[in-house]
Amino acid sequence: MKVERILKTLCAAVGTSGDEAAPVREALGLTGLPDGQVDALGNGSVTLGAADARLHLLLEAHMDQVGMVVTSVEEHGFLHFANCGGADARVMPGCPVRVFASEAAQPLLGVVGSVPPHLNKDGTDKVPKTEDMTIDLGLPAAKVNVQVRPGDRVVPVYTPKMLLGTRMASAALDDRAGAAALVRCAQMLQKVALPGVKVTFLFSTREEVGGQGARTAAYTADAEQAICVDVSFAAQPGVKPEVSWKLGGGVMIGAAPILNRAMGRKLAALAQRESIPYKWDVMGGSTGTNCDEVAVARGGVQTALLSIPERSMHTPAEVVDLQDVEDTARLMAVYVCDLCGAKLPEEPEEKPAMQEIFSSTGAVSTDTDAQIWSGCLPKLCTARGISGAEDAVRELILSYIRPYAEKIEITPLGSVLAYKKGRSRARTRLLLNAHMDEVGLIVTHITDEGLLKFAAVGGIDPRILPGRSVTVGYGSETVPGVIGLKPIHLTEKGERQKSIPMDDLYIDIGAKDKAEAAAVVTPGDMVTFDSVYEENGCSVKSRALDDRAGCALLIHLMQQEDWAYDTVFEFAVQEEVGLNGSRTGAFLAEPQAAIVVESTTAADVPGTEKERQMCRLGEGPVISFMDRRTIYDKEYTQWAFEEAQKAGVPCQWKEGVAGGNDAGAIHGSRGGVRTVAVSLACRYLHAPMGVISKEDYDAAAVLLQRLAERIAGSE
Ligand SMILES: [Zn+2]
Repeated sequence: MKVERILKTLCAAVGTSGDEAAPVREALGLTGLPDGQVDALGNGSVTLGAADARLHLLLEAHMDQVGMVVTSVEEHGFLHFANCGGADARVMPGCPVRVFASEAAQPLLGVVGSVPPHLNKDGTDKVPKTEDMTIDLGLPAAKVNVQVRPGDRVVPVYTPKMLLGTRMASAALDDRAGAAALVRCAQMLQKVALPGVKVTFLFSTREEVGGQGARTAAYTADAEQAICVDVSFAAQPGVKPEVSWKLGGGVMIGAAPILNRAMGRKLAALAQRESIPYKWDVMGGSTGTNCDEVAVARGGVQTALLSIPERSMHTPAEVVDLQDVEDTARLMAVYVCDLCGAKLPEEPEEKPAMQEIFSSTGAVSTDTDAQIWSGCLPKLCTARGISGAEDAVRELILSYIRPYAEKIEITPLGSVLAYKKGRSRARTRLLLNAHMDEVGLIVTHITDEGLLKFAAVGGIDPRILPGRSVTVGYGSETVPGVIGLKPIHLTEKGERQKSIPMDDLYIDIGAKDKAEAAAVVTPGDMVTFDSVYEENGCSVKSRALDDRAGCALLIHLMQQEDWAYDTVFEFAVQEEVGLNGSRTGAFLAEPQAAIVVESTTAADVPGTEKERQMCRLGEGPVISFMDRRTIYDKEYTQWAFEEAQKAGVPCQWKEGVAGGNDAGAIHGSRGGVRTVAVSLACRYLHAPMGVISKEDYDAAAVLLQRLAERIAGSE
């Protein structure tokens, strides 16, 4: 559909309220009409028809999207922020974001962080207040302070993506869907003679913060009639049928005191005549749209409202049906033709377009130069593999390690045991372990409406789920989706501060009904967060760093040509659901000693006292003395610190007894295995995007080689 490309282009151009230049420029260009104008408040407009026409019709949609604005930079470089428009705080914890920093060449990738659940007095029941959340750019304060200014804009990371059928998910569909309808309408009318009628297409600004753009632009336009196009509520769980319309059900025609009744009726009659599906959308008071502004411009403007049904409004998980957008465009075009007795020409039937290649895996940075440092880490983090579904990760790892292993075994549960030859036989049989699986979700049930219910695989804070972009299924047969939620506008008092229980959440894949969903999804299917991966000078920000960073370190060690002792490398399955891979792998490998290479929670974020931070980014690899499953070998932990010192790299204690990892199973294997854990400090561990330090990673690589040599070489 033509409208697909238009809407993707419009959504991809970011523009929060007061900052809409990019989408306005795109919209004006896409109309194909000459002489577009931009006014003092940034409104874009372009006119079709004779200047001396007897009737001037204004068609309006707003270009701003909800987002955030940086208010200050705190002492460690985290950003405080406020809402810009009515963004929903329930989608913010763990949300990857783009910061449009004044002094940076590119938008900066960040993540909305908060205190980890086990360190948070309120647990996971409450959504943190906006003022208690901060944005983490993974940069030191000195760097942040030269790049970011108060007033800089922030939006969630999103990529417009097609769901099933003609449904599309993206942030900013409110109201780029309306703008796309205007663009399509302009395209339809371009070759039509419009005697006596002039049409102005207005792409307005600042709707989400009060409608100042439409108010001033309507003054300038001085039109007799106006049709505003916005989004309205589509049916979804928790939304009453009387205030919503089904997605794909056609256009909603507004009726409200401020709206012109005759225009509304005319639009309904034309919809009927043209077989365009529609529904009346009746409001008792104001419309909450730009109609309220446009209708009272100058001496008054006869105004109608058309709305496109949309799910999960004001979140990064907004969903519309492109057919509704197209229907809205056609209804406006028919209305214009009717005003001047013209006939809307039939558009040639569109050939079914070739499936467009459009990444469904979200924002993977293409800054390849910056990724040379970490070798295989970007690919490992982008591979998908929740516990029990590690196949793709395993294949990737095998492709990296085959040349360096003397022998490779795949255990019955799917773990990899790779035997690397050293210069000598080990005096102590050593196993190095990292786990391949990541936390994620698993589809449990398909509802009658075609929504997917799910359970968590591994420990997931339910507060990080609403609004996230996800991928369902395996290999090349994946289905894109978003985790939807009831729009903030329809929440009851108190509901906005409460986190949404996992049981009430669902994945929206744009299915019309259960049958359409069941054709592509089966209960038991894997669900992962869409990938975000980026490196800057200091840090790596990515999905699945737990424990693909550990896997990358093991691969790096295997690739070393100068290796002292024969060693077993284990890439384990199912760590996150009970250490099953490492338990059975240790039985098979029969090590006498083990080094577990992990990623562990760093809570060095605003709002956590130093004694509760566990460990800190940039202070070196983390050595545990004890966690919830293991008391570590005292001598080996001592050696870890000694070897770090000898190598001149930093090393830190894990200052707390929390969490657990594969050591829990390995140290109790057979007759017992002396075990030590070397971890990377990672912020936002089981969230869609974590942050690790590059220096820590490099230091861990150095330390691990020395520690492995010392352990394997000792009796
Ligand atoms: Zn882990």
